[in-house]
Amino acid sequence: MEDDLMTEIGARRDEIADLTRDLVRIPTSNPPGLNYREICDFLGGRLERRGFDVEHVRAEGTPADSDAHPRWNMIARRDGAGPGDCVHFNSHHDVVEVGHGWTVDPFGGEIRDGRVHGRGACDMKGGLAASVVAVEAFCDMVPDFRGAVEISATADEETGGRGGVAHLAENGWFSPERVQHVIIPEPLNKDRICLGHRGVWWAEIETKGRIAHGSMPFLGDCAVRHMGAVLEEMERTLFPLLASKRTRMPVVPDGARSSTLNINAIHGGEPEAENPVEPQAPCVPDRCRIVIDRRFLIEEDISAVKREVADMMERVGASRPGFEYEIRDISEVLPNMTERDSPVAVAVAGAIRRILGKPPDYVVSPGTYDQKHIDRIGRLKNCVAYGPGILELAHQPDEWVGIDDMADSAKVMALTLLDILGPEGKSR
Ligand SMILES: [Zn+2]
Repeated sequence: MEDDLMTEIGARRDEIADLTRDLVRIPTSNPPGLNYREICDFLGGRLERRGFDVEHVRAEGTPADSDAHPRWNMIARRDGAGPGDCVHFNSHHDVVEVGHGWTVDPFGGEIRDGRVHGRGACDMKGGLAASVVAVEAFCDMVPDFRGAVEISATADEETGGRGGVAHLAENGWFSPERVQHVIIPEPLNKDRICLGHRGVWWAEIETKGRIAHGSMPFLGDCAVRHMGAVLEEMERTLFPLLASKRTRMPVVPDGARSSTLNINAIHGGEPEAENPVEPQAPCVPDRCRIVIDRRFLIEEDISAVKREVADMMERVGASRPGFEYEIRDISEVLPNMTERDSPVAVAVAGAIRRILGKPPDYVVSPGTYDQKHIDRIGRLKNCVAYGPGILELAHQPDEWVGIDDMADSAKVMALTLLDILGPEGKSR
């Protein structure tokens, strides 16, 4: 049965490429969130014709949802011949903006050298296509499978997933009674299993001063100079502290195996002029703000992460009379990591060994993806990311996905299904 299924996927190699091209040709740029209904209809129609129950869910009331840009999600389900687990493949259908530097049409789906090119080919329409064809082939070849398979195409992953997986999870679509195994075909390379991601804390730090005429700055109090002292303290104590923290999480690339902090933005004083020779009024800035993006490790507690920054501000204040500041939370996501011996990770690992002839590498993503919502809101731990596509190509110009890589990963996905849901499978 295993051999027949693999032969069948091999025979559908061109179909995987064609489906990827069709998906790339529907520009689902986010922001603003274009053509979500179109891509859901396209996929839902295909799966409905193949006997799946298809539902379309609009994330009404979520921040980015509007009549101009409705946040549509598609969930397709097919039940097997008997009771058993449900394996769910979740892909986001949105893509990031095109940007500059392309040598091919970003929405043309052109094939060159065995690769499908276009915005989203790698992240993650190639993975979506591979999972769709894997599931279809599995249903055709193993009609007496147990349990159920589901495929979802969801909105807004690139902007945090509120209108996508978070909304579905809040409405019970990922509850443990309904779904027991989730695979997210994000582009993490066909021989790697991604177990989770680091945590994130975004915050705004503001230093305060007092406005005065710029010719007599001694009459005011410059908020930008205060921020300068903050940045100096950060260089002196905080960055070395973060670099010294190392995690047992297998984060890639290696630099992300430590805690990190990025300063996303800095602004103080009058608005930046479009044209640099535009005059500004001579004023001492009374506000300066930075936005920080702190990535933290599973060993770190978020309250300790916040306290480190607060302590640093206190140290700055100790040597600056009248130093006033505020720290405002913007958002936070806790780190998560599925264990290697979780059922879905074990099944995917076994399939990688059989298809690629080598054990998988286990990785953790430096940034977050929709697993956070499945874990925190859906309360489902048994979730990994696994898909074709080379991580470093995501969001780049001339993004591509290899057709052989998609076919190999589709084989791994189908074999995973056979392992869990097949007549001899592990499903309860
Ligand atoms: Zn992605």
